[in-house]
Amino acid sequence: MKMFEYFSRFGQKTTEGITLEIEKRDVNAMKDAGEELREQVQKDLQQKTDVVDRQIMMVYEKKFRDRFQKLGNLNQKCPYCGNIHRSLHMRETKCTQCKKIFIVQKRVQDLGTAAFMTEQKKQFNLQWKVVSDIKRFKLFLAHEFEYIQKKLLKEGKRNLQESEVMQSLLGAYAKNSLSAGHYQLYSAFIFHQAELMRSEQRFAEALSYYFYVHFLHANGVSNSAQFQANTQMNEVLKERIGELLDLGDLQMKKMKGLYDYSILYLNRFDVKRLKSDLNQSYTLLTKEFRFSDEEKEGIKPMRSFVLYTKAS
Ligand SMILES: [Zn+2]
Repeated sequence: MKMFEYFSRFGQKTTEGITLEIEKRDVNAMKDAGEELREQVQKDLQQKTDVVDRQIMMVYEKKFRDRFQKLGNLNQKCPYCGNIHRSLHMRETKCTQCKKIFIVQKRVQDLGTAAFMTEQKKQFNLQWKVVSDIKRFKLFLAHEFEYIQKKLLKEGKRNLQESEVMQSLLGAYAKNSLSAGHYQLYSAFIFHQAELMRSEQRFAEALSYYFYVHFLHANGVSNSAQFQANTQMNEVLKERIGELLDLGDLQMKKMKGLYDYSILYLNRFDVKRLKSDLNQSYTLLTKEFRFSDEEKEGIKPMRSFVLYTKAS
């Protein structure tokens, strides 16, 4: 009896949290859902949308742009002293002139073979990471891509990129999932939209979408227009947010501005219907990143040591 109680109380706390995978059967279930949850959904959604100042987004876009700048040089020069090296291999190289060690690798922005400083290695690797492992949405229906493409062209869109069509397609799916009461599936589509933005190097915008997914998950979104008790944070979502914070050298505890913006801008639910408001969900998120925040504090100056040395 005790065991049964234990599992029924904690059984839902899975290590991977609310899923971000989109399966064909989930999409079909959403499509077949009909009107049954309509009344419930009407109550859950907010009727008016807030007007939100986008300035903070610009600030973060710039931060990310700076941190995503191309590193190193393509001229086969030592990044420290400028000494030319005839042939560079993809590895650590010791400069024959200044004797410093630098690194030669393909950089992500132009795939050029760049020679960069050893101190930039961490940033260099993060630049690769934030545009890797993009989860791509599999098309379930024949011609759905072409259908959206035609629609956008009819609306007068020019120079249509593949990602714009995909973004529009995901947006349409997200909207349908939301109005069908399939809130968990809705959060997965928002996540995929963020993935697409990340692939286009729109990092601040991607981060704001990941934040919104976190907000939805903190509210335990389900596919029956319900909000469940708190679940674990999805590990993939945590990884994505963590990598972007690392690239920007940002601490989660200082991200309240962007978090608030994201939720106010993207949230479609009436907060009175939810379990956590944006302050509560933000607190949960800062707890998840407590250790990596501490790591970014850096080493505090040893004040007492300096004083003693001076006195002697
Ligand atoms: Zn050198």
